[in-house]
Amino acid sequence: MRAMVLERPGESLKLVERPDPLPSDGEVRVRVSACGVCRTDLHVVDGELPDPKLPIVPGHEIVGRIDLIGRNVGSLAVGMRVGIPWLGQTCGHCRYCREGRENLCDYPKFTGYTRDGGYASHVVADAAYVFALPRTGDDVATAPLLCAGLIGWRSLKLAGDGKNIGLYGFGAAAHIIAQVARWQGRNVFAFTKSGDAAGQAFAKKLGACWAGGSDERPPDQLDCAIIYAPVGALVPTALRAVRKGGRVVCAGIHMSDIPSFPYSILWEERELVSVANLTRKDGEEFFDLVPRAGIVTETTPYPLVRANDALSDLRNGRLEGAAVLVL
Ligand SMILES: [Zn+2]
Ligand SMILES: [Zn+2]
Repeated sequence: MRAMVLERPGESLKLVERPDPLPSDGEVRVRVSACGVCRTDLHVVDGELPDPKLPIVPGHEIVGRIDLIGRNVGSLAVGMRVGIPWLGQTCGHCRYCREGRENLCDYPKFTGYTRDGGYASHVVADAAYVFALPRTGDDVATAPLLCAGLIGWRSLKLAGDGKNIGLYGFGAAAHIIAQVARWQGRNVFAFTKSGDAAGQAFAKKLGACWAGGSDERPPDQLDCAIIYAPVGALVPTALRAVRKGGRVVCAGIHMSDIPSFPYSILWEERELVSVANLTRKDGEEFFDLVPRAGIVTETTPYPLVRANDALSDLRNGRLEGAAVLVL
């Protein structure tokens, strides 16, 4: 197999050749055809997340076909088209797993962080955490759904059902969730970096009723807001934009420090919550609604060997939609 490997945080990924991995009991091996590049990969590569497995193959928005199965794999079979998400494994017995909140498991494994991911020709996954996908479909267009879509969906559920929803940071997740929110009949207010006219035009093309810089006040009060950009200063900004009783959801795995802010912008029963990871149930719900909502993703393809370029384009905000490595 070929893989782009991170040996130490802060370094570039290196292309390596390795023997093809073999699936153990309960695992499948997948021949990767596309793997999305998520902001979380940047946090892994930049050393902003603690204790990655090293060396690690990043990537957790994986689409491919099963080419080998271990024993006791249940309903999956060789040749099936599947998706592999961030949630790679949970323990099944901690209090969170027992309460149906496996996203908060005390002993999880995460694809592309604590087990090898999809910046590679092949990947091995725990079969119980793999999503079966329709037999045919556009693998590149599907890849961003595996995290930007799934965790975006979880963040949208946590935001509640308010009509006016603000999306701060209009990247891979927001461009999918804006379409879901429009399909649900909501008004989408898109916030980009100040002066990002192209990003604002992109948001309007996807149905946003208003798009502006995150330093601008929206023309109407928001019922809820989701912050996708890893920028702590957006927390007080979003709290100021939501109405009494409104909710602000922080959807990223990592964020710069939140500056201090006056209690008055949280008062009147505004709520501030974060989203962590996903459950398999989130995935089932989301893949069920994708065709009904007519979700179309905007992608920029890169060959596997250009993974470092894809990461730096994401870091520098040079992307519209999502970067996807194509095998
Ligand atoms: Zn657990
Ligand atoms: Zn992700």
